Amino acid sequence: MFSSAHSGLLEKLFHYIDLHQDEFVQTLKEWVAIESDSVQPVPRLRQKLFQMMALAADKLRNLGAGVESIDLGSQQMPDGQSLPIPPILLAELGSDPEKPTVCFYGHLDVQPAQKDDGWLTDPYTLTEVDGKLYGRGATDNKGPVLAWINAVSTFRALQQDLPVNIKLILEGMEEAGSIALEELVMREKDHFFSSVDYIVISDNLWLSQRKPALTYGTRGNCYFTVEVKCRDQDFHSGTFGGILNEPMADLVALLGSNAFCTKENSVLFSLVSGSSLENFIVIVKLYA
Ligand SMILES: [Zn+2]
Repeated sequence: MFSSAHSGLLEKLFHYIDLHQDEFVQTLKEWVAIESDSVQPVPRLRQKLFQMMALAADKLRNLGAGVESIDLGSQQMPDGQSLPIPPILLAELGSDPEKPTVCFYGHLDVQPAQKDDGWLTDPYTLTEVDGKLYGRGATDNKGPVLAWINAVSTFRALQQDLPVNIKLILEGMEEAGSIALEELVMREKDHFFSSVDYIVISDNLWLSQRKPALTYGTRGNCYFTVEVKCRDQDFHSGTFGGILNEPMADLVALLGSNAFCTKENSVLFSLVSGSSLENFIVIVKLYA
């Protein structure tokens, strides 16, 4: 239960938010319009990711936050090309030692999206249909990141003191395995994160228009590649069929089995029963 002073403040905050809804939606529209796809490894999209992170950094700086944009070097792709990794933003608002510090995590990259995938509207044009907003990243995860920023800006606009110190860690490679995030977190353990009391992973969804989800645990993802390789030369199917191992047949058997094995037949990795391949991945190379 909120005290009456609290509920009075909340009323003021919500009133301000309602009055400025169009402004907030307009910003989300601008963010959704940036095709910050981290999955397709092409220079044009990496540029979009840099643009997205710079826009978010500006937004936070305009709010009065101290923002560090951490350069994370480049990513070596299996095909030999090297692509720059978008910076991770570390932002800070307030450092009152009397207040707890809450750190919000969010990501500003998205999965690929094309109208042909089955979208009813252009994925990069935020569109309202029946009171719902459709656009790539609107909920995962640009909207939730903006929600925190909007909440802070509302406190600021009403000249209300924030009850907590706020930190944000925003990345642009979440959909591609959060490349470089772990390294940065370890590096900042005793610096940026040393004063953090609570972490809120704000990468979530709403269960209905009025019911947000509160996730208190995740299974996580791990990705893997399976490569089955046979002889380099062609063999006549009539002469050799049925004698030589066939990589396609091996691959099908492998994917249908409960375990991945090395060529010595030792179990490399067991699939947890009930998990799907999409959710469970490890890097394995097999040579038939
Ligand atoms: Zn997400």
